[in-house]
Amino acid sequence: MREYDYLVIGGGSGGVATARRAAEYGARVLLIEGGRLGGTCVNVGCVPKKVMWYAGGIAQTLADAPGYGFSIGETGFDWAALKHARDAYIERLNGIYATMLEKAGVTLVRGYARFAGARSVEVDGQHYTARHIVIATGGRPKVPEMPGADLGITSDGFFLLDHLPKRVAIVGSGYIAVELAGVLNALGSKVELLVRSEHLLRPFDAMIRDELTTQMREAGVNVHIRTQPQSLSHLGDGALGVDCGTRHLEVDTLIWAIGREANTAQLELARAGIAVRGDGVIDTDAFQNTNAEGIYAIGDITGRAELTPVAIAAGRKLAARLFKGEADARLDYTNIPTVTFSHPPIGTIGLTEDEARTQHQSVKVYTTRFTGMYHALTAHKPRTAMKLVCAGEDERVVGCHIIGEGADEMLQGFAVAIRMGATKADFDATVAIHPTSAEELVTMR
Ligand code: FAD
Ligand code: NDP
Repeated sequence: MREYDYLVIGGGSGGVATARRAAEYGARVLLIEGGRLGGTCVNVGCVPKKVMWYAGGIAQTLADAPGYGFSIGETGFDWAALKHARDAYIERLNGIYATMLEKAGVTLVRGYARFAGARSVEVDGQHYTARHIVIATGGRPKVPEMPGADLGITSDGFFLLDHLPKRVAIVGSGYIAVELAGVLNALGSKVELLVRSEHLLRPFDAMIRDELTTQMREAGVNVHIRTQPQSLSHLGDGALGVDCGTRHLEVDTLIWAIGREANTAQLELARAGIAVRGDGVIDTDAFQNTNAEGIYAIGDITGRAELTPVAIAAGRKLAARLFKGEADARLDYTNIPTVTFSHPPIGTIGLTEDEARTQHQSVKVYTTRFTGMYHALTAHKPRTAMKLVCAGEDERVVGCHIIGEGADEMLQGFAVAIRMGATKADFDATVAIHPTSAEELVTMR
């Protein structure tokens, strides 16, 4: 049995971050990865998604250009060329991750790990042990159980598509559904978005989700609310029939974007006495401890804020606690800023207006809605909407919600201020930057 100080299962966002930090602090670290280094984010998540989001943005810029006097003429779009360039970029990143781990002195074992006992992890017949073991195995897309469900693809399959589908149905209403719908619509697919409830992005502030629904519809996405497929079938010529009860659709591709499930099934957690929820999520306390002594979990597998920077931050804090003597190091899961790369993008942090009203006695809300200056000259005129949610006598800003161009880059700095406890008066006292959309956040009355 080979012995280490720290054994990390999963080489995605959280696993790589915690392994590198622990090695930096002097630990002998083993990282086990069964798939491609970088995990979901690098290979089938944030990175290829953002490339596609940029592509959708370029299509929109080309459409806007005549407003600024450009005659563009006939334009073409080569999906295969974009995919080729995107895949090559990701392959470079896979290599960079391997080099980073090597330079940090982390030992890498390729293969799928499972527990063989309380302190023993097995990969392809070889056993490993460590004083501290962290599970960072992330998740994978869910596919529902229904007739023909396998005829659909998931976000993983989206990144394998070798051509732009002409007609697409996307099932779901969360981050992935609205992001992929925005990209495919901008690049020219006819998109049907099938939403089982009343709302897109249900947990978001009402202003954001309503504005996004309106703008997606204006941009040409068919948003079907209270619509859920009951079966999929082949219709011939590669077409798919989607039976939604009262509504029947014919599409070329259907994408399931209905959430993700934890990668725990193959880990044989029971052999190490690690408790797991029915949905596969591993519960941890505020310090990422599982119920089993010396075994921790970070990232998506813990079912909290499934975001890359969260997995990274939790992993780094854990490494600092275990190997740098920072006994209190832990990630604060409140006030996590997040961006949805929809068209237009959304930036949000803190409480929604509804949440604030249930948690605070005195709540004051400031909103604004306008068309950004860039669109003064374009035919397409998407709106920007912003909301500040303030609580208490001193009007502390407890929520900030933005939809519109630039929201993605706008939020990070405001997130710092909000974490520091900024009040509306602090926002007002900050001199605006003109002419920008962001200046509206410090001039709202
Ligand atoms: P992962 O990155 O999933 O890594 C887990 C790793 O463990 C994988 O490499 C897997 O192969 C490996 N593994 C699994 N089982 C085993 C085993 N038994 N043995 C060895 N290895 C194993 N987040 C953002 O912050 N911004 C975004 O824009 C964003 N966009 C996204 C877009 C999409 C389409 C998706 C699907 C996700 C997106 N996310 C985004 C979420 C983000 O990708 C995840 O939150 C993040 O990757 C979680 O990191 P992790 O380390 O917990 O798991
Ligand atoms: P989400 O949890 O965001 O959304 C899942 C959606 O699926 C919900 O809206 C839910 O609807 C709907 N749903 C669930 N089950 C069904 C069903 N059986 N039929 C129809 N609809 C269903 O999951 P995603 O898969 O979109 O993304 C996973 C996570 O990855 C996100 O939560 C996010 O943390 C992360 N991510 C982050 C991104 C970013 O930072 N930009 C981008 C992409 C992903 P309902 O509202 O009715 O419950």
